[in-house]
Amino acid sequence: MCSGRVDLEFVLRAFSNGIDGVFIGGCRLNECNYSTHGNYHALNMVLLCRKIMEHIGLNPERLKIEFMTSGEGILFAEVMSEFGNKVNKLGPLGKAEGIDQKELKSKLAEITKLVPYIKLVKNEKLASRLENPEEYDKLFTKDEIDRLFSEVISYYIDPEKCQACMTCAKRCPVEAIVGGKNLIHVIDQEKCIKCGTCFEVCPPKFRAVTKISGAPVPPPIPEEKRTIVRKSKEKAEKDNE
Ligand code: SF4
Ligand code: SF4
Repeated sequence: MCSGRVDLEFVLRAFSNGIDGVFIGGCRLNECNYSTHGNYHALNMVLLCRKIMEHIGLNPERLKIEFMTSGEGILFAEVMSEFGNKVNKLGPLGKAEGIDQKELKSKLAEITKLVPYIKLVKNEKLASRLENPEEYDKLFTKDEIDRLFSEVISYYIDPEKCQACMTCAKRCPVEAIVGGKNLIHVIDQEKCIKCGTCFEVCPPKFRAVTKISGAPVPPPIPEEKRTIVRKSKEKAEKDNE
């Protein structure tokens, strides 16, 4: 219905499935029938995705967005034919860029996993409205995108501080936190979408969740060491001995 619905993840999925070029057609800018102006979102997403493609070594020309009305059939045919020819000239995805197919797939998978994080971090720019095409190339810079991936934030629960209050596990939107009553909680890094909710909701008196930027996350505490022995219980057990 709206080009604004074309998610960054959809485009990455298309490339991951070996598609050589992706074209997105949207209504003309400033002619949106709604107040949402989703075509600006689509444009910003494309500008971001093109920089991401450069970052992983793909030719950004493989992704194109164009704005036109439903009455501009001739223009549509011309644009599609031009784009089709360009993609044909570029050659097969990855091969033409000298990237190994397996490596490309794994790079795309890694980035796809980070899509919610990327959208969160770049939220402001993704919602901006660029009035002048000359501004397009400046919205996202190469350095910025390189930094985005080299400084990816991860969240980690400090086993020394976690008091198993379960707040984070209840609030995590993707059930990435493993825990339970009297069990030190652990983040499943494979499932975590880096939304930061656990960091926000962990009670200040515990401050058990830490943010790690651009560094490896410590390994999770082994399952057999996750039970928290409360001091009162420990004392009662000692008194009984
Ligand atoms: S950062 Fe978000 S997704 Fe990741 S564990 Fe915390 S709440 Fe869950
Ligand atoms: S909110 Fe904090 S203290 Fe509570 S279970 Fe999660 S990490 Fe542990």
